[in-house]
Amino acid sequence: MFFRQIFEPDTCTYTYLIGDLLWREAMVIDPVLGEVDTILRTLEAEGFTLKTVMETHVHADHVTGAGALRDRTGAKVVVSRHGGAPCADILVDDEDFLVLGDEVIRIIATPGHTPGCVSYRWRDRVFTGDALLIGGCGRTDFQGGDAGILYDSITQKLFTLPDDTLVYPGHDYKKRRVSSIAEEKSCNARLAQKSREEFITIMQELDLPKPRYIDVAVPANQRCGALIN
Ligand code: FE
Repeated sequence: MFFRQIFEPDTCTYTYLIGDLLWREAMVIDPVLGEVDTILRTLEAEGFTLKTVMETHVHADHVTGAGALRDRTGAKVVVSRHGGAPCADILVDDEDFLVLGDEVIRIIATPGHTPGCVSYRWRDRVFTGDALLIGGCGRTDFQGGDAGILYDSITQKLFTLPDDTLVYPGHDYKKRRVSSIAEEKSCNARLAQKSREEFITIMQELDLPKPRYIDVAVPANQRCGALIN
């Protein structure tokens, strides 16, 4: 298998590349617009054709490279049916799956950070976007966020995956690259041994600043990253 994790330092976003070595087909999860050239160079060097661009959700903190990658390669853009991004080619929902060569990627609806958040499960790993972060989770104070729904998504969907499932998040502000379901169940400060009510209180008291790029990023990402001039 081919797997790469790319870190975008301005917004601490992770992009993931998955490739099927037999069919030489690739997919990208959560590309950042500024990383499009790096992604295409990496795939070209390996002889891959980009087939699919998957978004875990409509991002508020960075502009997606999904539309640019589609324009340059003909790849299909995948977003949740509940994501509010009609620009996508394929709208997915819970329990849907995508095929890449001989690989299967399963969709797990994990709403709460936004109503249209999905996680992608592939082999022994799950790409959680901003639903579950290492030691934390995505905020729930804008974009239709709901802390109770996020708690249910994490505890009833993600935490029921096998303990040794690797957790690859959408961001990490300390550059940590990977965790596991077992580690998050026992160590995540917002979730481990916390009730739904305790989690909701923690989320209500976060008092986070507004993301720097939200006013540009959200409208652009509803159009798959097309910037409005
Ligand atoms: Fe987000």
